[in-house]
Amino acid sequence: MNFSATILLNYFDLIPWQLIAVPLMIGLVITALGAFNVQWNFFLNAIHQGDTSNRQIALTFDDGPHPIYTKQVLALLKKHGVQATFFCIGRRVLHYPELIKELDEQAHIIGNHSFTHAATIDFHSKAQWLEELRKTDAAIADTIGKKPLFFRPPYGVTTPHLAKTIKKSGHLAIGWRVRPYDTRRQQPASIIRKILHQIKAGDIILLHDTHERIVPVLEQLLPELKKRNFTMVTVEKLIRRNAYAQL
Ligand SMILES: [Zn+2]
Repeated sequence: MNFSATILLNYFDLIPWQLIAVPLMIGLVITALGAFNVQWNFFLNAIHQGDTSNRQIALTFDDGPHPIYTKQVLALLKKHGVQATFFCIGRRVLHYPELIKELDEQAHIIGNHSFTHAATIDFHSKAQWLEELRKTDAAIADTIGKKPLFFRPPYGVTTPHLAKTIKKSGHLAIGWRVRPYDTRRQQPASIIRKILHQIKAGDIILLHDTHERIVPVLEQLLPELKKRNFTMVTVEKLIRRNAYAQL
């Protein structure tokens, strides 16, 4: 072994394994967090808010339609003259087409939230993602004659496969800025408090029309937001982008 090779070997002996392992671990953690956090825009560009110069905000309801709660949510929105956006699961659209028609008739916007909302959806291939999007678009288009352009990733998960799929399908990914975690067991008052604490002009708020707490939440939240001079509009109006494709 010559002199320079000896020095090189000694040098590597001196590098603690942590110098290699720690940055590697940090990289992996950042990638994982990025994939699970749509707000980071890690793999795809999602829209999280609209114009912040006026007091428009958008309420969004995920995972429906639900045979009990969607109707109750609809009644409350109607009572307060509020328009909202519903990110629906294709499988449920097929089960409850009447609810989708009602949402559309009352001028709410319907977006695509995948067909299965499967727990393993982030492991989907591009072909599987395309199928999720296509089947949900078809279910909605067959019901209301309009093909949605807005898509919200289930669980807020974004992966490179999904990013490529959306680029191909032409959907616009819609995220959120305010998330009160309303599906977890908690008091309506604490859900409302979280929203009111965070809410700013232009915000998109993530809620779900799939649990009983949403009713008392909206009963108090809608008048309170109005009192604070917020105007609740659809995502289409908030971000000034078409919610449906020309068929
Ligand atoms: Zn969801």
